[in-house]
Amino acid sequence: MNIVVPSEIHPAENRVALIAEHIARLVEKGAHISVETGIGKTLNISDEDYQNAGASLEADRSQLYQSADMVLQIRKPAIEDVALLKEECIYVSLMDPFNERELIEAFRQKGVTAISMEMIPRITRAQKMDVLSSQSNLAGYAAVIIAAERIAKIFPMMMTPAGTISPARVFVVGVGVAGLQAIATAKRLGARVDAFDTRPVVEEQVKSLGARFVKINLGETGQTKDGYAKALTEEQLQKQREGMAKVCAASDVVITTAQLFGRKAPLIITADMIQGMAKGSVLVDLAVENGGNIAGSQPDQEVDVNGVRIIGMTNLPGKVAVNASQMFSANMHALVDEFWNPDEKRFVLNFEDEIIQGCVITHKGEVVNQMIADHYAQVSQSG
Ligand code: NAD
Repeated sequence: MNIVVPSEIHPAENRVALIAEHIARLVEKGAHISVETGIGKTLNISDEDYQNAGASLEADRSQLYQSADMVLQIRKPAIEDVALLKEECIYVSLMDPFNERELIEAFRQKGVTAISMEMIPRITRAQKMDVLSSQSNLAGYAAVIIAAERIAKIFPMMMTPAGTISPARVFVVGVGVAGLQAIATAKRLGARVDAFDTRPVVEEQVKSLGARFVKINLGETGQTKDGYAKALTEEQLQKQREGMAKVCAASDVVITTAQLFGRKAPLIITADMIQGMAKGSVLVDLAVENGGNIAGSQPDQEVDVNGVRIIGMTNLPGKVAVNASQMFSANMHALVDEFWNPDEKRFVLNFEDEIIQGCVITHKGEVVNQMIADHYAQVSQSG
């Protein structure tokens, strides 16, 4: 089986889908791996390192796509590139399938099997393949480091002969994987941390990290069977904003990570709330690519609103691209390894398996993923 790893062409992408260590392991199991020449240059990994791990180099990107039995990539492909793939090819990447209907349609028409890494079910057996967790974890860390660099204050309390400096106050909104790491990182730097999430189960986790959980009575909130937050009503969101305004006003840094699976992120921090914050404060919006939690946040920009900085970076894991690539690559390797048949030396699509059922979006000319098919049907009906 020829597994192909093209370079990432998105201008903001500096991570690499597969590093040499995992290539060597797959080659050992009988895979043939071709990578695009220069693939590791953003991480200072040479072509020679890839060759030493057993990969072949290919400089012609079209040739790479045409020869692939399986493609492993971080970002989704350009729609034109789908036409280059073989019908039986298995294409694996982040895909944003709820919003990328045109791309999914291109995969379907071509007959390609499209595997969306963000749709891998969050079950214990699949934790090692979970790119959402591995990358969010690093994004939470990077967000705090960036905020610490952008405010003109230190995070820890300091008692010095020149006086006592109080710790910076950090407010983390949304305490999933990214939020928990943001809390842990801010605490390690010595900040005083408050946090809020609509899922009540999070309170204990926040406290165990030494942060304070902000209590706001929103009535019934809860979570889905997969552990994701349920969307709030507009009335509940309004209550949340009112409950949070005071904490925002007292914070030096606000980090928002609130997401709703398969939906636009909720707008939580309004222009009025930003107005109430001290000049020099910094907000970091981890949901910016998905609609944003903060009024006025813009992808890959730092916006200044009356002296308050709003940072909206789309590829925070890319700030620590070496570790992000290590983890992404480990997740990809775990997926391939889980379904690798050593005798046939190929990846076998076992549709009896709930991981395959969850992450395969198209197969043999059909949208086989029920959640995505239902979503498209609903969108078509409503619009
Ligand atoms: P996510 O990225 O979907 O959302 C981030 C956080 O935003 C969530 O905690 C969510 O509750 C919160 N949120 C949504 N609306 C909000 C609002 N209006 N205000 C404040 N917060 C809001 O979440 P995630 O990081 O992917 O994690 C989701 C869940 O999945 C968690 O329970 C996590 O522990 C669980 N999880 C399980 C596994 C596994 O079992 N394999 C792996 C990873 C995560």
